[in-house]
Amino acid sequence: MSEQSKAREDICKIAKSLFDRGLTCGASGNISVRLSDGSFLVTPTGSSMGFLDPARISHLSEKMEFLDGDKPTKEIPLHSAFYDTRTQTGAVVHLHSTHSVALSMLPGTDPDNVLPPLTPYSIMRLGRVKLLPFFMPGDSAMGAAIRGLAGKRSAVLLANHGPVVAGKDLWAATYAIEELEETAKLSLLTRGLSPVGLPEETIQQVAKTFDVDW
Ligand code: ZN
Repeated sequence: MSEQSKAREDICKIAKSLFDRGLTCGASGNISVRLSDGSFLVTPTGSSMGFLDPARISHLSEKMEFLDGDKPTKEIPLHSAFYDTRTQTGAVVHLHSTHSVALSMLPGTDPDNVLPPLTPYSIMRLGRVKLLPFFMPGDSAMGAAIRGLAGKRSAVLLANHGPVVAGKDLWAATYAIEELEETAKLSLLTRGLSPVGLPEETIQQVAKTFDVDW
């Protein structure tokens, strides 16, 4: 199977899994993958992540110009901002996942580091997650806000909207965004209950071991 056919299948398989677990609903959420020739596969606009067809995934050039397939998602600026500012990026996943969106709206959420250090997994897979403000749907300023981070973050949370995570490949980006949502859920479940998070020394040790900026 060619690299592109495999990537098309993986996108559909992962998208369906995310959708089936309620991590994004309706026609929300999108995925992109950079192929080794520099071109991109992107989920189509208006499509449900649960019912994608590998043959209809949008194929875009290195410059994100349309090549073939269905019309790509309108949230392309979120994806291109990561590819342009983090050259090691091989895939970007964006979801409208409930707990992350809830956390983005609560007072007391640190905009520079949204997730509390409750488990080592969110630290090692995401580093510090930046909260970005709310933007109107389709506003290209969303992409500009990610570009403004100059590639220093692999994950952001758009207020009242959802997370966007970049990874070295589709599996890495998926595992990382799942961890973001799980940690947001843990944070909400334990809010006000004085949870015992990881001690500072352990946090620093995890960050050092997995080479993440904390
Ligand atoms: Zn969105």
